[in-house]
Parts: sequence; C-alpha cells; structure tokens
Amino acid sequence: MDKYILAIDQGTTSSRALIFNKDGNVISSAQQEFTQYYPNPGEVEHDPLEIWQSVLSVVEKAIEQGNIEKKQIEGIGITNQRETTVVWNKETGKPIYNAIVWQDRRTSAKIDNLKERELQKEVKNRSGLLLDAYFSASKVEWILDHVENARNLANQGKLAFGTIDSWLIWHLTGGKKHITDVSNASRTLLLNVNKVKWDVVLLDLFNIPESMLPQLCDNSGIVAYTSSEVFGEQIPISGVAGDQQAATFGHTGFHKGIAKNTYGTGCFLISPTGKTLVPSAKSLLSTICWRFNNEITYGLEGSILASGSAITWLRDGLGIINNADEVNTLANSVPDTGDVYFVPALAGLGSPYWDQYARGTIVGIDRGTTKAHIARATLEGIAFQVYDVVKALEEDSHTPLELLTVDGGAARSDFLLQFQADILGIPVERPQEIELTAKGVGYLAGLGVGYWDNLSQIQQIKSDTKVFEPKMSENERKQRCDRWLEAVNRAKTWAS
Ligand code: ADP
Repeated sequence: MDKYILAIDQGTTSSRALIFNKDGNVISSAQQEFTQYYPNPGEVEHDPLEIWQSVLSVVEKAIEQGNIEKKQIEGIGITNQRETTVVWNKETGKPIYNAIVWQDRRTSAKIDNLKERELQKEVKNRSGLLLDAYFSASKVEWILDHVENARNLANQGKLAFGTIDSWLIWHLTGGKKHITDVSNASRTLLLNVNKVKWDVVLLDLFNIPESMLPQLCDNSGIVAYTSSEVFGEQIPISGVAGDQQAATFGHTGFHKGIAKNTYGTGCFLISPTGKTLVPSAKSLLSTICWRFNNEITYGLEGSILASGSAITWLRDGLGIINNADEVNTLANSVPDTGDVYFVPALAGLGSPYWDQYARGTIVGIDRGTTKAHIARATLEGIAFQVYDVVKALEEDSHTPLELLTVDGGAARSDFLLQFQADILGIPVERPQEIELTAKGVGYLAGLGVGYWDNLSQIQQIKSDTKVFEPKMSENERKQRCDRWLEAVNRAKTWAS
C-alpha cells in the first residue's frame, strides 16, 4: 500500500489540504475560503470554529479526491497563518472570542504606551521582534480585558492561548495536546528567542498568565497523534511550522545572498542566518526558522502587512476587477502608471517602517488616470515594498542579495515578478509549484516520520523554475525608487 504525507495549510483567506507522494508531487488537494470579519476600521477577525471545520472538510475532500484511505497517510504537517490569536476554554474546547487576525490594529494604543515607557529595546533583545500590534501578545491581553470573566478564568488556569497551529492540534488530538512549535512561538512576542523559552518579563508586560501558554515543540518529529474519534485514525502529526518558515523550508538549499519572498495576503521575506541569531539594526525581525534534531536555524525577516490583500481590495472594495488574475490584464493594458503610486499600507506599514498608523495611499491621480493605472500601481506598490525590505536586509546582513526566490498566490503574476526583478536589479526565480508553504511543512512532516531519510534526499526533489531577469536601466530604477519613497512618506501616520 503506497504511503503519503498530508499537509494542512491554514492561511489567512483559505484552508488547504495537499497530499504529497515520495517524489514531492501533489497527488490531490482541496481548498476552502472562510469568512473574514471586519467589525471596525482596522479590525480583522476569524471564527476559530469555522476554521476548524474548513480544515476537516478540505482534508476529507483531498483524501477522497486522491482516492486513498486515511491509514495511507504516514505523517501530517500543519502550517498556518502566524500571530493570529485564539483563546479558548480548556474544559469545553470553545473559543471565548473570535480569533484576532495578525492584520488587526485594535491594540495600537497599548503598544504606544509600551513605546512611551521606552521598552522597545528590551522587548527586541528578548523577543527578536519589535513592539507592534501585529504580534499575538497584545491581542491575548485585549481578549482577557474585554471578554466578560476572561481574566478570572485565566487566573484559575482554565483558559488556553494558541496560534492557529495550537488550536488545530488541540482539536485534532481531541483536546489532549496544547502545544506550539518554536517558529510560531517566535512570532507571539512572548518567547525569549535566545533561550527558546517563554519569557516571564514579556508575559508580565502583557499581563498574561503562563498557565495559558502551550508547550513548545520542534518543527519536525512526532509531536502528537490525531484522535481516532475526531479524525477516524490515529496518525502522527510530525511537522508544524508557521507559514513563512514552512515556505522557506520548501525552497530548500539556501546560502548567503539568497532570500525567499512569499506574495500572499502580505509579503514575507526571509533569509536564514544559520545557528546564530542575527540582531537587526534596520527594523527587520530576528526569528526562528525551525528547530529539529537538536539544531536551530534562525532567520532575518521582513514582514509586509498588505500585498495580495491590495489586489483583493481592487476586487472587493473598488470592484474594478472580477478576479485576482484580471489585475494583470489591466496592468498590461497601459505602458506605465502615469506617475501614479499606490502605497498599499492597508494594515499600517510593517518592515522596515513599522508605522501602525500608516494607511493605504494613492498619489498622482489626474484626469487621465484610469483603473488600469491603479491596477498597475498596485502591482508596482507590492514590488516597491519588497524593494524596501531587501535594502534593509542587505544593510543588516552586509551582503548584497543575488537572487530572490518567490512563491505565494500573487507570485502567479508575471507582471509583478518582472517589475520586481527590474526594481531590484537582480533575477527573481519562481518554481513551477508555488504552493511552497504546504510543500515545506510536508517535507518537515516527512522527515519527522522517516518518509524521507534526510535533507539531502529532499534537496534532490527539484522542480522547474522560471527566472525573471532585470531589464530596467539603473537611472530609471533610481528615479522610480525615489518617487516611491516620497509616496511612502505621504502614507505615514495617517490614522494617528
Ligand atoms: P494566503 O496564504 O495569505 O491566504 P495566498 O498565497 O493564497 O495567500 O495568495 C492569495 C493572494 O494572491 C490574494 O491576495 C490574491 O489577490 C493573489 N493572487 C491570486 N492569483 C493572482 C494572480 N493571478 N495575479 C496576482 N495576484 C493573485
């Protein structure tokens, strides 16, 4: 009987399940979107139970479509939208509030307060991150302070906090395991990134009782078994990682001068730095990529909070496209943006600016501007944000970037990747298979149960790639980048 690896990819806009064979090929997959709630400006929530149901449903569909039985799954990998915060009751397994999504800005005032108390440096030293509402800590505190009786229950040890990986594992194991992997933990603002332990000082800053926190686990290796009552079979969960770390692992074979960028709802650029943590001088984040076989890999990350979501906004907010792919047809229908710039700061600005109060800004509109110019400026704005992060990375790592490898939904856009190569002045490489998040966690899960023997076996699984070479002149690049920086300055602090 052939054996397979199941990867569950619980993203910001949809849940996916993919089944991989030994050659690293997808034999079947299923995807389901779920509801986005925007209760107030700057707020984004998900229903954790809807997420759980969507995961069960895509797993069933992928298994059915692949024409296999559950017992043919040798190991399960789970990867997820990071930072998104769920608090649930340990006795009932029910969430006490909706999941507060990573893009949510409701806790900005609390963060300002900590900044005013000059705690930025200490927080950065401990967590590798910066003070920002993006991370989980202030979201947990908000739930404890705003849901009736929550703080009481938390103090009695009755509540659990977890990112989406924890939440799913809790349910998959029938409530037996409350764990999170170190890559997800490194995004909560509660982990001491040097010691790889929950940090009591950070817990204290956000008034979070330690009893709520999950136990830490590795990214590869058996960490739990699914409950047969819930899942139908007892199957090892043998890979867990935050989506960006999983995608990085999926690219395999990194060395100096290469970084990966994922173009999803946001953009996340990661460059692994090896066994040592590299502190950032330029407002990037020091994060854990993965830990297994007693070895840890750190990375530098640039987090861009809105990119593909700007395309989704063209569809749902402006109604100028019917589906994401139409943005490319529109962008290609004009020779340039007519000097229009779109800074897609829809959820504030992340790396390298970290401005919670920046908002989306379109400048340069005149009587001749059409939706095609806006569409083109949207794609260019996404690429310019990546340019800003690459410049910061080059300064932090003292190494010029030679190649950017890419994945994620918006990496389907040839226009975007060509412009990215042009504006960076280096090649951009897209693998044929852009679902690298699922693939990466599939690899971690496969290694964790011995489905693949070692890393070098995985590195031999090669997929075809398309390379976009830079074509823009140095002069034009400089002029366009200067203009972009002017536009960014106009987007800053708008909502403060
Ligand atoms: P996530 O995992 O964050 O939910 P995905 O990796 O699935 O995100 O990427 C989804 C994003 O990709 C959406 O914001 C969508 O607008 C964008 N997208 C999908 N197809 C295309 C396309 N052909 N061209 C440009 N953008 C696209």
